[in-house]
Amino acid sequence: MFEAMEPMDAIQKAIDHPEKIVVFSIAPGVRVGMGDTFDREPGAWIEGQLVDALHRLGVDYVLDLAFSTDLRAVEMGVECLLRLRSQKDLPLFISGCPVWTQYLKKHAPAKGKCLSTVKSPGEIQGATVKTYFAEEHHLDPTRMIHVIVTSCGAEGGISTSPNDVGILLGDGVLQDNDYIMTTQELAIWLKSAGVVRSTLNSGQGWDSPLGRGSGSGIISATTGGTMEGLLRTLQQVLMGKESLPNEIAWESIRGMHCVKSAVVKIADLSIHVGVVYGLDVAERLLAGGYDGLFDIIEVMACPGGCIGGSVPEMRTLYREAAASPGQTALDNPEIAGVYKSFYGYPFSAMARQLLHGKT
Ligand code: SF4
Repeated sequence: MFEAMEPMDAIQKAIDHPEKIVVFSIAPGVRVGMGDTFDREPGAWIEGQLVDALHRLGVDYVLDLAFSTDLRAVEMGVECLLRLRSQKDLPLFISGCPVWTQYLKKHAPAKGKCLSTVKSPGEIQGATVKTYFAEEHHLDPTRMIHVIVTSCGAEGGISTSPNDVGILLGDGVLQDNDYIMTTQELAIWLKSAGVVRSTLNSGQGWDSPLGRGSGSGIISATTGGTMEGLLRTLQQVLMGKESLPNEIAWESIRGMHCVKSAVVKIADLSIHVGVVYGLDVAERLLAGGYDGLFDIIEVMACPGGCIGGSVPEMRTLYREAAASPGQTALDNPEIAGVYKSFYGYPFSAMARQLLHGKT
């Protein structure tokens, strides 16, 4: 049950508790948003040091939230194909930004049917950590404390709800996510614990499963990243591996412009996509300013997405994504593993129960 304590105090208490298992999942934007904490330049990639620091603090497992961004891309790919083929509930609104989805539900509830039903990566991760991950490690989910670390400090941003695992297991208390910690809160915690040292291991890897994201998963923190991940997945499904990489001019949906668009041809589909950020632009969107122009639209509330307008952070994400061994969600062997061992296939009954919300 969520306790009304400062997250750091409550999490430290869980770490010190001999029977609690503490699991951290780190959003992609966090690993480029802590350069100053590690005495590095803005946008520095501190992934390995961060995983090492959390283990030294006593965290049992440190996982990559980019895994769930990949899982979302697969579910969303199927949803997108169904809507494009049927021409129903378009344009499809995709986003991992809860501020935008709440804004839409409040100001234009009639357009709610256009929202993707796939939950946010944080919600997906929580549901998968306390089911599949718990099973793989023979852990009791009622003893697990799952903490999401995110760059989102927005009021009404990432929250600990829902509690779909509790519903699945018949436990009215169990939550998918127990605490949300921001990058800033994590920085304060690490510094006060004195764990940031030059001896931290930059090559420290994630725990697994749920410890790996593709290049598409990594760039989801920036504007256009969710769209690119979806299109890359569609391209691979419809045209095959040999069509990759980069038959699509990705540059047209990257960068700091607040409205970007492209017409993307994948197999027999010609898809009009829009990528926007900022709630002022979203307001125009909901007022009908872009009606009929797009089949799929990605919206994020903050300038440039979760990187909050930081060009160095954006550059690092694209650089690290390009160096990733897999470029799409389907290249991620841990995605194949979670479907094989737990979800079965996209849109299965279990996937609909844990990975999709009610719009
Ligand atoms: Fe939060 Fe901003 Fe990212 Fe939306 S875009 S999830 S409000 S940090």
